[in-house]
Amino acid sequence: MKILVINSGSSSIKFQLWNMDNHTVLCTGLIERIGLDDGIFNYRPDEGETTRDVLPIPNHTTGIKLLLDRITDKNSGVIPSIEEISAVGHRIVHGGDKITKSELMTPEIIQIVKEASSLAPLHNPPNLAGIEAIEQLLPGIPNVGVFDTAFHSTMPPEAYIYPLDYKYYTEHGIRRFGFHGTSHNYVALQGAKMLGIAPDKFNCVTCHMGNGVSLTAVKNGKSVDTTLGFGTMCGVMMGTRAGDLDPAIILHLQDVLGMSTKEVNNLIYKESGLKGISGLSNDARDVDEAAQKGNERAILALKLFAHGARKYIAALASDLGGRLDAIIFTAGIGENSINLRKMCCQGLEVLGAYLDTEKNTVRGKQAVISTTDSPVKILVVPTNEELMIAMDTERIVKAL
Ligand code: AMP
Repeated sequence: MKILVINSGSSSIKFQLWNMDNHTVLCTGLIERIGLDDGIFNYRPDEGETTRDVLPIPNHTTGIKLLLDRITDKNSGVIPSIEEISAVGHRIVHGGDKITKSELMTPEIIQIVKEASSLAPLHNPPNLAGIEAIEQLLPGIPNVGVFDTAFHSTMPPEAYIYPLDYKYYTEHGIRRFGFHGTSHNYVALQGAKMLGIAPDKFNCVTCHMGNGVSLTAVKNGKSVDTTLGFGTMCGVMMGTRAGDLDPAIILHLQDVLGMSTKEVNNLIYKESGLKGISGLSNDARDVDEAAQKGNERAILALKLFAHGARKYIAALASDLGGRLDAIIFTAGIGENSINLRKMCCQGLEVLGAYLDTEKNTVRGKQAVISTTDSPVKILVVPTNEELMIAMDTERIVKAL
């Protein structure tokens, strides 16, 4: 079975075509600058060169038409006909509180996603534009939505309700949703497999550390708590986002320093985190390099990041009913930053997690990086949200 996976953003579409018979990628691509005259179509077949075409791509439908034409092209295509595609899996950011699992995108589910758009105004509308384009170009093909929020729908109320006046939950739906769910789910499943533990018996803390950062407590394979919340501005600090802040600071910035909502928004989302503290870059590689050369603000930025991560790993471990099997690192930083992983693990011996500094030198591949006798295993698991989307899509389509 061949499944097309689409991640449709406001001005870009990432895609991969999966052969589910052997879990291989037939081609990948990235369409950029949608809406502009100099749109970019990047395409790479599994065996072949990457190509980059610059051409007008006025909307998502044009972009998807380009990709369908290309993957079936006589020369650079990877399938002879569009009929080979059995289904399309879409990454969707927000399912609100009604969507608790991956879903076939029926008119009812599409309506729910539209209603959840107020919670993710930058993401849900372009995600839906991708589905509309496929409906237009491949009428009748099953579209499956895989939601960033769905994995966290198993959190208990004590993890998702904020201690505000209760009516803000009941009347206004203000609650923790959590994000990066597809990634947390995937690495938890992979981690269980690596350690030979049944996924529904596996307890771990998954650390998705990329440009965005979220950590999740996974108990018996299900999310029971996570560090991102109603929005994506809490928990551990990120590339440019502050993460946890005392809300009194926001009020102070506005009431005493006279900053507008827009200015505060820009500060906490775009000018904080690794970038704000180091004064150098939001990229952990740059900050790490400067820290190695003795730059004090870069060293401080890494210390803040690791301090926040350690604090949350320990806190989330307490959600697991007394048994922690593994701590899992994933995404850009988690998979690659030897230094930050080491710093994040310092002190976690208190949980029974002992890092092996030799094994920790791994980058970008699956590995156990704890000592042989560490009671709690520490793992690196490269995330693969596209494969998770393809697997969920296959499962749903096979059951139709
Ligand atoms: P992601 O959002 O998962 O693509 O992760 C992006 C982030 O991963 C980048 O901004 C970098 O900070 C980080 N990253 C990628 N490679 C490395 C590396 N070799 N060392 C440290 N950080 C890295």
